[in-house]
Order: sequence, then C-alpha cells, then structure tokens
Amino acid sequence: MNITDTPFAIQDLAAMEILDSRGNPTLQVVVTFDNGVTGRAGVPSGASTGSREAVELRDGDKARYGGKGVLKAVSNVNTELKDLARGKKWSSLAEFDAAMIALDGTPNKARLGANAIIGTSMAVARAVAGTGQLWEVLQPEGVSPKLPVPHFNVLNGGAHAPNSLDFQEFMIAPVGAPSITEAVRAGAGVYAKLRTLLQDAGFATGLGDEGGFAPDLAKPEDVLALIVQAIEGAGFKPGKDGVAIALDPAASEFYKDGAYHVNGEKLTSADMTERYAAMVKDYHVWSIEDGLAEGDWDGWKVLTDRIGDTTQLVGDDLFVTNPAIIKEGIAKGVANSALIKVNQIGSVSETLEAMRLCREAGYTQMVSHRSGETEDSFIADLAVATASGQIKTGAPARGERVAKYNRLMEIEASAKLQYGL
Ligand code: PGA
Ligand code: ZN
Repeated sequence: MNITDTPFAIQDLAAMEILDSRGNPTLQVVVTFDNGVTGRAGVPSGASTGSREAVELRDGDKARYGGKGVLKAVSNVNTELKDLARGKKWSSLAEFDAAMIALDGTPNKARLGANAIIGTSMAVARAVAGTGQLWEVLQPEGVSPKLPVPHFNVLNGGAHAPNSLDFQEFMIAPVGAPSITEAVRAGAGVYAKLRTLLQDAGFATGLGDEGGFAPDLAKPEDVLALIVQAIEGAGFKPGKDGVAIALDPAASEFYKDGAYHVNGEKLTSADMTERYAAMVKDYHVWSIEDGLAEGDWDGWKVLTDRIGDTTQLVGDDLFVTNPAIIKEGIAKGVANSALIKVNQIGSVSETLEAMRLCREAGYTQMVSHRSGETEDSFIADLAVATASGQIKTGAPARGERVAKYNRLMEIEASAKLQYGL
C-alpha cells in the first residue's frame, strides 16, 4: 500500500481546536474511512515564518487567544472539506489534495487555511497507513528508506527566545554515529554537558521554544566555541566524522534596511558571507540554513558560489517548501539544500513533490518541525520514507520534540534500515 495508489472513501472528517507546544491553538484532524479505519494529525505552527508560506488561517478575534484561535479553520474542515471529502471515491491522496487546493481557490490556501488543508492531508495519509507503518506508505517509487541524521537544536535565540542572541538556532548533528539510537545518545550527552558548562559559567539555563538553552549570550562565535567544548566534554569528536554543528541564523529576522544586524554590528551580505566562511573553518559548522534573508537572492548566489562546495546551504524562508520557488533556486544555482516543512506548503502531496525536485537536482534536504509543535510524529516517518538523510526537530528534550526522535528509534528497532546523510 502506498498513498500514490491506494484508493479510499471518506465517511467522516472532524477537526477540533487543541493547543500547541507554545500554548497557542492549532488543529487536530481525524478522518474516518468507510471501512472504519481512522487517521489523526496535529498541525504545527511557525514563529519566524517566510513571507511566501501558505497562509495559516487564524480567527483574529482578540477576545479569544489574543486573535490566534483557529475556529474558522476548524469549521472549514468540518463543513466545506468534509462535504468535498465525502463526495466520491478517491484514487489517491494526490487526487484528494488537488481537489482541496482547487476548492480553496487561492494560490496560497488563504481561504480555507493551509492549517486546515495540511491537517486533513496528514490525517488521510495516516489512515491509508492504517495499522501499518506510515513511512512505508509515504515512500516514493524508487527510493530506499533511510534513517536521517538528527539535528538537535541545543541553543536558541532570535524569535524563539527572549535573550539578545540574533541567530535563531545552533544545532548539533551526530553525522558520524553508526545508528539513530547512538545519534540520540550523543545528542543527549552533548546537551547535558552544555547545560553544565552554562551553569558553571553563571548563565541561566532556561529553554527556548524548541527546547534549546537560551542563555544571555550575544555573539554567535562565543556560542560556537561553547558548543565545541560541550561536544568534546561529552566525549565526542567535533566534525563530520563525529558530532558536527549546523546553524539556522534565520537571517530574514535580523535583515533590516538593507543590512544584517548581528550583535550590534551592521553587516552587508558580503560581510555575512565572510563571517560564515570563518565559522565553517573554525567551528566545525557543516550546514547553514537561511544564512541570508529570503529576499536577498543576489547575496545567496554569492554565498553559494563562495562556500557552497564545502558547506550545506539550506533554504527555509528562501524556498518555503514550494516546488515552484525551489525550481527557481535550482535554475539559478542558489543554495544547495532545502528545508522541508509540511505546513509551509500545506499538503502532503506538494511536500513530496518539493522533495522529488530536490532529489533529482542533487539538492540535499532536511525535514523540519516548527517552533510550535504537537506530539504528532508524522515528520519522523516522512524523513525515513523519502531517505532525506536529515531531520531537525528541536532539542533532545521536551515531549513534542522527543516524540519525533523516539519515533525514529522505534522505526530503527523494527526495521533494518541504513542511517546517515
Ligand atoms: P519556525 O522556526 O517554525 O518558527 O519558522 C523554524 C525555522 O526557522 O527553521
Ligand atoms: Zn529556519
């Protein structure tokens, strides 16, 4: 069975408002097929969103959840999407996704809400899997499933933490681990060591939205030095044959009036590029996501030409998991990797299409959670099914983050699969 060729008929579709990990409302969607099989999904939500993302529909009623309620999106699932869903026998998830997109009628899912559509799409994929494995039904033709290298976000700044750090995410990636289970052990070990180092240096060890520590450090290089110390202190080798470092500066957030504002300095995109080149050389940084702003395509091209042959350059806000924008990036030689977030594009089928484009162009891909998450571990199975090689889903701590890492270990325990980039 596979979502591309398994027909289904939907008997019921029901959404409700639940809370995400930040305490904001989001959707849970449950679908029931006519054979009684059900599928359930929780919808993630970002904070540092790209401007070209599919639209997350929020109520805007300040009297409820400060305007963040999702009752309109819930109602859209329970009325329009349910009417559509029950109308016929569907030949595949792709056919159903396309029908939802057509019913929405906008280029960015703004009318029904990308949150309504992705929740429904994910729930249907789950129901197709039934009591089987989700990663098996998501597998594209000709792709051998593989366990991804986890990228643990151990130190938070930017829009995800109240400290003065401009860079959003500092991640550790146990590329050299022999298995996902050992990678998780390395991640947890380095995370624990980092806590001790921070405590010993007198920093607070409160956590950011994705579970990484959020100390009041401001200079990115100071953080990198500390993380290298934590990797070594935990008994691992820094670098790609041990534990490497990945960054998500989320630069769109600190790009203002034509300049990048980092730790009080005003930098050009050429300055940033040289700064990154030095970080790669000095601190075992192997991957940089959104190193430059989403609108700075010229800067991105220079960055790619300068360090793209040695460093993974991941487009998140840049590409927003959008097949058309990824195609443009590939044609222009901008970046060499794409971040993959299901709610950024708003359907499972389009997500798989974005991933296919990357595979065929030789762009790497990193499957990603959002800063607002639920306990749904859908993306763990997605990363395995597509042999993406990489996943980022926060710190090795906090329930909504470890749900994904735990699911990866469960898959490893139940199936003999390769692990690695
Ligand atoms: P977001 O952050 O979920 O708040 O967008 C994640 C990221 O930028 O990668
Ligand atoms: Zn990002």
